[in-house]
Amino acid sequence: MARANSRPGKIVCVGRNYAAHAAELGGKVPSEPLIFLKPPSAVIAAGEPVRMPPDVGRVDYEGEIGLVIGRRCRRVSEAAAWNHLSGIVAVNDVTARTLQRSDSQWTRAKGLDTFCPVGNVVEASSVDPAGLSLTTRVNGEVRQHGTTGEMVFSISRLVSFISHVMTLEAGDLIATGTPEGVGPVAPGDVVEVALSCGSAVRNPVEGGEALGQGG
Ligand code: MG
Repeated sequence: MARANSRPGKIVCVGRNYAAHAAELGGKVPSEPLIFLKPPSAVIAAGEPVRMPPDVGRVDYEGEIGLVIGRRCRRVSEAAAWNHLSGIVAVNDVTARTLQRSDSQWTRAKGLDTFCPVGNVVEASSVDPAGLSLTTRVNGEVRQHGTTGEMVFSISRLVSFISHVMTLEAGDLIATGTPEGVGPVAPGDVVEVALSCGSAVRNPVEGGEALGQGG
């Protein structure tokens, strides 16, 4: 059993990988996977609070299916991709939506401390990728539901594509994109992302320190 919530070396995220979600934010489905990074310092475990700076504007939950890399890989084929995964995890790609819209790079919007809740690791070998789904609840109400069948780019395609861009190391995490139904949270809310394979991550949202301007 892989260790839950160990800090990944890097977190590679996929944007607009569900057509209905791309449309709800006014975006188009990309012709090849759109990837960006979240820093490992953003990772928190189930139960730990997502801390929302009071001056950061809108903050959204994004429930996602996460992939844990099992062994170093570079330029793997789609056919071999699944064999390089050790675990499947629920991920919440918490996003400062106002900052995402104001910045051409998403580093601030995606990289704030506590903005990457990661759930318990389920062994990849026990999971059927074709039947995998995720559900996001806010205060117990279902807000998102998505399946791997709705992904624009499959899990195998994503692992292969990313591994042609950068070497993936054991423990690295890939967040495969969020389905439609994203929405804002506020202090006092509780967000849960649950996967059909048994991984889940549930976190309260609390107020945090002001972002400020530094210096
Ligand atoms: Mg996302």
